[in-house]
Amino acid sequence: CGIVGCILKNNKNAAPVLLDCISKLEYRGYDSIGIATVSDGINIKKDKGKIKEVDSKLDLADMPGHYGIAHVRWATHGDPNKINAHPHTDETESVAVVHNGIIENYLDIKSQLEEEGHVFKSDTDTEVIPHLIQKYMDKGFDLEDALRETIGIIHGAYAIAAISKNEPGKIIATRKDSPLIVGIGEDGYYLASDSPAILEYARDIIYPEKGELVIIDENEVIVKDEFDNVVEKEIETIDWTP
Ligand code: GLU
Repeated sequence: CGIVGCILKNNKNAAPVLLDCISKLEYRGYDSIGIATVSDGINIKKDKGKIKEVDSKLDLADMPGHYGIAHVRWATHGDPNKINAHPHTDETESVAVVHNGIIENYLDIKSQLEEEGHVFKSDTDTEVIPHLIQKYMDKGFDLEDALRETIGIIHGAYAIAAISKNEPGKIIATRKDSPLIVGIGEDGYYLASDSPAILEYARDIIYPEKGELVIIDENEVIVKDEFDNVVEKEIETIDWTP
């Protein structure tokens, strides 16, 4: 029920920041928590439970990598348990995804992908997303175009953030009927379902529209429309004192 992401400059460790930001979305309600970062490959820590409980078991801030994504889940498809917790990956663990919302046509997509040989681990609607991204990346698409293809196939409500170890240093995100904001900070770039998650780190906020793609790396944030045109977004500065 909440997502965050960040890319930090100067090789700063992302996991402690992701944990702090996702903790600020606790008020939205959740049953599971998970974080993915990228170092040599994709690292994932996730489980069912309150953030504090899962953190004392897994030490969520102790993960290498200067960027990543995190999720608090409010289960809609599949029980609250470790396997169904986000982030979700494809079977080669080259792509990791966090998602808020519901993919209405996931059963059709899942059976089609299973026919093509994909093996699913969870009962979630979300898991079709990393499999679709992987499928298109295997065909030669980059992460951005693979996500663009994917949102052409899925129906429903979503805010999605995706990373791939095959395209290091980048987060791609998009939304439709679920909230998503982008924060520009001194130490890096941030993504979140809601501004309280990131205001301590970034007060300059961009609001992506439905169907727009957000491409973040260590140096810039680019927003594109569905036709691949760069969109000049207004930056709103939020007044905030800790
Ligand atoms: N539908 C997804 C699931 O059940 C995402 C739920 C959410 O927004 O937290 O895993």
